[in-house]
Amino acid sequence: MLSVKSTEEIVSKLFERLKRITHLNYASALMSWDLETYIPSAGAKGRAETLATVSTMAFEMFTAPETGALLEELLSRQDKLEPHVKDIVRVCYRDWCRKRAVPPELHRELTRTSAEAQVIWRSAKMESNYAKFEPYLKRLVELNRQMAEHIGYSEERYDALLEEYEPGLKASDFQAMADVLKDGLKELIERYGSESIPLEGNYEQDKQMSLIRKLVFEYMGLPEDRFRIDVSAHPFTIRIGPKDVRITVRFKENDFVSAMYGAIHEAGHASYELGIDEIYEHTPLAEGASYGMHESQSRFWENAIGRSFGFIKLIYPELKEYLNLSYSPELVYRAVNTVKPSLIRVEADETTYNLHIILRFELERMMINDSAFNFKELPELWNCKMREYLGIVPVNDSQGVLQDIHWAFGSFGYFPTYTLGNIYSAQILWKLRQEYPQLRTDEIDVDLLKEIMNWLREKIHRYGRSRLPYELLVDATGWKPSPEYLLNYLREKLETINPNS
Ligand code: MG
Repeated sequence: MLSVKSTEEIVSKLFERLKRITHLNYASALMSWDLETYIPSAGAKGRAETLATVSTMAFEMFTAPETGALLEELLSRQDKLEPHVKDIVRVCYRDWCRKRAVPPELHRELTRTSAEAQVIWRSAKMESNYAKFEPYLKRLVELNRQMAEHIGYSEERYDALLEEYEPGLKASDFQAMADVLKDGLKELIERYGSESIPLEGNYEQDKQMSLIRKLVFEYMGLPEDRFRIDVSAHPFTIRIGPKDVRITVRFKENDFVSAMYGAIHEAGHASYELGIDEIYEHTPLAEGASYGMHESQSRFWENAIGRSFGFIKLIYPELKEYLNLSYSPELVYRAVNTVKPSLIRVEADETTYNLHIILRFELERMMINDSAFNFKELPELWNCKMREYLGIVPVNDSQGVLQDIHWAFGSFGYFPTYTLGNIYSAQILWKLRQEYPQLRTDEIDVDLLKEIMNWLREKIHRYGRSRLPYELLVDATGWKPSPEYLLNYLREKLETINPNS
C-alpha cells in the first residue's frame, strides 16, 4: 500500500507522526518539571498517574507497526532522501527495533517493580536495611537480564543495557579504560589527598541565585528567552519545547560552592539541548548523542572551565559583590579542587568521583552477567571495593550500597556514562587548548568563553543524535576515547596547586 505513494508523502507522514509523539513527550516533560518544582504535595500521586498515561501513549505510538512500516519503506528508498532525513530514518529505526524487542508485558513488569522498589529503597536507606531492599533488587536485575536477552548482544549481556545510554560502547572497552583510571587515580589520591577547606559563611539564597543568573547568562551566554532556572530537591535539566530548556538548583545557606557548581553543571547540559540543529526538531534526534556525551558538556563547564584558576579569577569580582566573599581566589581554587576520599558519590570531588563510578560499574556488570550472583554478598563486595579503591569503608549500608536511587529505578548501564563524561570532557579541553592557547593561561575572559561555546556547538551540539558519540569525539578532537587525557588534566592541575607534593 505504501509503495504507491511518493517518497515526499511518506516522509511527511513519518514527520507528522514523530511530531505528535514529540508533543506528547513535551507534555510529559512539563508535567515532570512541575512535579519536581511547584506541585502541591497532595497532587503528586495523581500527577504520577497522568504522566504514566501520557508517556505510555507516546511509547505506543512510536512502537506501533505503522511507524515501523513507514521507516522500512523509507529505508528501501534511502538514495532519494536528503542527508538529514536519512539520519532521522536510520536512528528512528534503530530505536524502533530496540523498543519492539522488549515484550510489552516485560516492560510493564519492570515499570511496576521499579515503582515499588523506589518506595522500599527509600525506607531501606533510611533504616540502613539492605535485606529489605534485596528481593526488589534481585527482581529488577532478573527483569533486566531478560530484557538484555530480548535485545541481544555479541559479547556479554551487560552490553545490551549499556547500549541504551552509550550506543556503540562495549563493557570490555569501558573496563579497559577503568583499569587505567584506577591505577592513575589511586596514585593521585596518595600524592595529593588532603583535608577539605570549608569556605564557610552565610550565603543568602537570593544572593546565590543572582550570582548564578549572572554566571549562566553573562559568562556562559545562555539565552534568556529560551531558558529558565528554578529550585528543586535534586538539580536537573529538562527540555520542554524547541525553545524552552530549564534547569533547577538546590541551595545551602552555609555553602555557595554546591549550588554554584551545580548550576554551571546543569547549564552545560542545557547549552547542549539549546545548540541542537533545528532540522532535528520534533524527532528523537533532538537529544544529546549519548548520556556520556551529554555529561561531558556539563562536566566541561563545571570542572574543566569552572574549577580552573582562570575562571575563578575571572568571576572573583562577582563572588565579592554577590556573596561578600572574604576568601582569596587562590584559597577558593584550592578549596574547590581538594582531593579527599569520601563515602558518598554525589559529594565526591572531581578526582575521587570516578572511583565511585568504577565500583558501581563493576558490581552491576557482575549482577547482570552472572545468573548465579549471590545478592546477599553485595554489601560486602561494595565495602571491599571501597576499601581497595578509596581506602575507606562505610559504617552502614545507607552510606554504602543503598546510597543511590539508580538501581531502584531499574537502571543498569547508566553509571559508566558519568565517567565517560569526564573522559570526553578532558579530551575536549585538550583539543581546545591547542586551538585557543589562551586557555592554557590563567587569563581567560568572557570573549574566550563565548568562542568555546561556539566551538562546542559547531563540533558537538548541533548534531544531536545523528552521530554516535564515538564518531563525534574522534571528529571533534582527532583522538579515540582515552582515559589518559583525564589523568593528565588532573595531574597537571593538582601539581600547580600542590607544587611540593
Ligand atoms: Mg549531569
